[in-house]
Amino acid sequence: MDTALQERLHLALLAQRRAFEAERMPTYEVRRDRLERLLKMTRQHGDALAAAMAQDFGHRARQESLLADVFTVESGARHAIKHLRGWMKARRVATPLHFPPEHKARVQVIVANVVSAFSQRVEAATWMSPATKTMALAKLRSLYFGVGYPERWQDHSSLVVDPADALGNLRRIAQRNYGQAVARLGQPADSAEWCIAPQWPGAVLMFHQNAYNFAAALLQAPKFDPLASDAANYGAIGAIVGHELSHFVDTLGADYDASGNKVRWWTAADLAGYEAATAPLVRQYSNYSIPSGEHLDGKLMLVENVADLAGLGAAYDAYRRALGDQIDKESVRRQDREFFLGYARAWRSRYTEDGLRKQAATDHAPERFRIATVARWSPTVWE
Ligand SMILES: [Zn+2]
Repeated sequence: MDTALQERLHLALLAQRRAFEAERMPTYEVRRDRLERLLKMTRQHGDALAAAMAQDFGHRARQESLLADVFTVESGARHAIKHLRGWMKARRVATPLHFPPEHKARVQVIVANVVSAFSQRVEAATWMSPATKTMALAKLRSLYFGVGYPERWQDHSSLVVDPADALGNLRRIAQRNYGQAVARLGQPADSAEWCIAPQWPGAVLMFHQNAYNFAAALLQAPKFDPLASDAANYGAIGAIVGHELSHFVDTLGADYDASGNKVRWWTAADLAGYEAATAPLVRQYSNYSIPSGEHLDGKLMLVENVADLAGLGAAYDAYRRALGDQIDKESVRRQDREFFLGYARAWRSRYTEDGLRKQAATDHAPERFRIATVARWSPTVWE
């Protein structure tokens, strides 16, 4: 970290210390320890801290943004602490630079095609009652699937940012967020309102506004690779789109209607049909074990495993339809291969023994099982 940056962080911490003291925090020791921890953390992770502060103000300090190269130590910290407002503006400028409109458009086409293929699969499902199907299709039709960054950016012009008042900045931001939340009361839900920053490598599913956000930082190889073929991208990001669509109409989404109201729309008969149809998948996952001997819980992770299968199936349908009337068998076979390799690559992962044991106990199976199972259930993979 350069000296100018250190100086700025030091000033910010001094301002914070003054604010703490003015507030008469419990004891001097508590204040000192807290400040020392903060100072140590700032020295070690100045860039991450600054980015985290600017993004969501502290509570996600473990910032591992895949877009770290966009906001380097220097510019990240400078923008965050000295020019918070400028940084927010920079985010709008930087995001389209690193996730250009062509990429957004390409992923949006994949999303639209996978939604359409998924809807056809819902129409063909034999275990779902007609009324339930109608709701499932309505949810898929009205779903907002955000790609990369919002269509409408938030206006931060009224936010007062003072480089010498780090704590005050946090307070004003918290106040502003609170004010916005209160103003939303009684208003119709805005499904196109984003709940994740574009530079955060993640995605959010929001049943209450029937919406999904894919942040730009997630839409990089291996999830979406602008240099890869369409086939590979349908296998990678397309299958993830399909997985998420599944949640809107499965046992998780069954409690929210197409407008995001908390209404149960699955019937008891739908649930019974679903359980009967998915029993083999429960058994299959429960048979898997990790090297340390523990078995997976097929029932606990069922909804995720169904989403994997349904998602990859819909992505495959969409990809094949996008091929149009290509009749060259060898070319189709090659693209099929790219599709499945794209899927496997998107989920590649490494675990320590302990990490694997922890993952195996959650509702998301370790990726190696997810990749192998979907391949086993998709006959085309063997062709
Ligand atoms: Zn899931």
